Amino acid sequence: MRAVRWHGRDDVRVDRVARPAAPGPGQVRIAVAWTGICGTDREEWRHGPLFIPGNAPHPLTSAIAPITLGHEIAGHVLEIGPDVDGLRVGDLVAIDPNLFCGTCWWCLRHEIVLCPAYGALGFSRDGGLAEEVIAEAFQCVVVSAGTDPASAALAEPLSVGVRALRRGRLRLGESVAIVGAGMIGIASLAAARAAGAGRTIVLDPNGARRELAARLGADLVLDPGAPDALEQVRDVTEGRGADLVVESAGVPGSAATALALARRGGRCAVVGISARPSEIDTLDLAVRELEMIGVMSHVWDEDFAAAVRLLERGALGADDVVALRLPLERAVEDGFASVGRSDLPGVKVLVSPAVRA
Ligand SMILES: [Zn+2]
Ligand SMILES: [Zn+2]
Repeated sequence: MRAVRWHGRDDVRVDRVARPAAPGPGQVRIAVAWTGICGTDREEWRHGPLFIPGNAPHPLTSAIAPITLGHEIAGHVLEIGPDVDGLRVGDLVAIDPNLFCGTCWWCLRHEIVLCPAYGALGFSRDGGLAEEVIAEAFQCVVVSAGTDPASAALAEPLSVGVRALRRGRLRLGESVAIVGAGMIGIASLAAARAAGAGRTIVLDPNGARRELAARLGADLVLDPGAPDALEQVRDVTEGRGADLVVESAGVPGSAATALALARRGGRCAVVGISARPSEIDTLDLAVRELEMIGVMSHVWDEDFAAAVRLLERGALGADDVVALRLPLERAVEDGFASVGRSDLPGVKVLVSPAVRA
């Protein structure tokens, strides 16, 4: 079968590899329908290895490069291994890529993203940029049959937005400001609206992205560089500022922008990843009793399952956000290279082994 494999920095190839062997106990074999690609795939390609075990085997999976990329996966169950309940051949599933040891101090507290041996399909074990993938049954969330499989591939990024709101302790009716309207910002908007947020505000310098956020129901969209941006946010939040801010831009200055938008006593959930440390005003943080909360990935049974339920009821769909639908052969040159491009009419690139090159 064809698989998009990371061999080294600037060396990702579409290889011919053997189909996966029969699934082991607790595992299933999946025919991939769609796989999303994101900034992390691009980073592995251009600057890796970051999460990929490039030189030494991964402590949990023992895998080592070359490894098949792809961690935002939806597909159909082809074969079921021993000791698997709740899945049937033909089921459409979205796959939570996260892997963890299950026995360490953090795993026992269900804080699996903090597991020292944490890994994921598409980084530490072969992922979904291929015709087939082996997944653990617990990673597979069945998606109702009426759901577009391309939308099911949005479950992974949507679950990051769900976790940002969970970690940020969003309560019904609270105002939410979102800094950055890339895929995670848009996912946070969709999840916040579905979760009963009050006013939603989205800030992004890109006009097309602001339009997308407005189309998806944001009450106010703003250019963070506008001189009156803070005033406008206060105007729609009874003069206070946002109860919860989601920082999903991850660019220099965006963490400071996020803190400035929060009300006194407000929370700021930080999802955006920036290679460089950000400067923040700790005096302001102390005096206004702000909270900054880190958000990492998602947990399979809470965030990911919730994201699938949101997709099923149309809180977000592929037609809303997908910029490009590519064949596997073009995943790197046209896919990874396009991630983050601001001139595309959407914020997500999807790849399918069934689309013809
Ligand atoms: Zn991703
Ligand atoms: Zn663990």
